[in-house]
Amino acid sequence: MFEFSLDGTAGGARAGTLTLPHGVVQTPCFMPVGTRGAVRGLHPDEVRGAGAQIILGNTYHLHLRPGEATVAALGGLHKFSTWDRPMLTDSGGFQVFSLSGMRKLDENGVDFVSHIDGSRHRLTPESSMEIQWALGADIAMAFDHRLPGQSSHDDARDAMERTLRWLERSRRRHEELAAGSPPRQTLWPIVQGGTHDDLRLASLEGILERGPWTGVAIGGLSVGETKPAMHHVLDVLSPQLPTDRPRYLMGVGFPDDLLEGIARGVDMFDCVAATRNGRHGSAWTADGKVQVRGAPLRLDEGPLDPECDCEGCTRFSRAYLRHLFVAEEQLGPRLVSIHNLRFLIRLAETARLRILDGTFDTWAAAWRQRYFAKGNAK
Ligand SMILES: [Zn+2]
Repeated sequence: MFEFSLDGTAGGARAGTLTLPHGVVQTPCFMPVGTRGAVRGLHPDEVRGAGAQIILGNTYHLHLRPGEATVAALGGLHKFSTWDRPMLTDSGGFQVFSLSGMRKLDENGVDFVSHIDGSRHRLTPESSMEIQWALGADIAMAFDHRLPGQSSHDDARDAMERTLRWLERSRRRHEELAAGSPPRQTLWPIVQGGTHDDLRLASLEGILERGPWTGVAIGGLSVGETKPAMHHVLDVLSPQLPTDRPRYLMGVGFPDDLLEGIARGVDMFDCVAATRNGRHGSAWTADGKVQVRGAPLRLDEGPLDPECDCEGCTRFSRAYLRHLFVAEEQLGPRLVSIHNLRFLIRLAETARLRILDGTFDTWAAAWRQRYFAKGNAK
């Protein structure tokens, strides 16, 4: 259980197979985000139909509503949501530091105020492990202290060192919870350190000293830093990461980010952009973005993306999708959300094939050129 094997490499890019209690995940892979126990607006069969092998659940949201005790009483998040493939939960740290109001941070944990009803809560490394254990995902994440993308060296060092101390506490509590039960959840650490090379490397070194781990996550990216800065952090970390463990780049998942991450050795991605953009009528294609509400689509009988195999593209016209958005029919946001998920998942699937057949670099170069050719912003 929790085994990872490399099936092939192409330069820095990797194709692997991760075995988890709820199934096997072939990497590189994109994980749709089921924020509150559902991928926003979609039926689990639609998420499965888009090719998702693993999805995410958000500890912060599920802790506030319905509460982990309720989820546990109903058999855990898999049974409750009927998603029977692998699942990962985040630690809640990201939302506590970004979404909730009036937080107070101390060495023990974080006080925060619910964005739903203003109620007061406290999250610590220990309580994050208890919540995630009750939710029951295959992979739990260590509780980390996250900072904005362009934090000072001093602030980033402070947060990185605290994250290591919290990692030890996360691990201890997770081991206590897991003791005596069959292996059903593993815990992954998160590399922090902002955009500072020395801190990133120190964070990774501290994590590996506290190992072994079944996977390693890279956090604190795509939070306001530039794309070259994000690529640089991956370039710095990639040679130092264990080759025989999966690497998860947290919260990153625009199409070009996926490609650049894969090229730099990342195996797993998640991001809400696919469904968020889908709800707003922004669709990804190999030629860049299509605005589904746009007037030019009014009489367009062609498919949204002629290369896509999702239902929105194989069954409906651009004109019909546009009509759904203009008329505010719920089917429109749903179909474009599915399309965007399928686009990212297909991108990861194609990357895997190109890694395995040794043509990844030429394929990736052609992909970039085409994606940005029509003036789509990098
Ligand atoms: Zn499609």
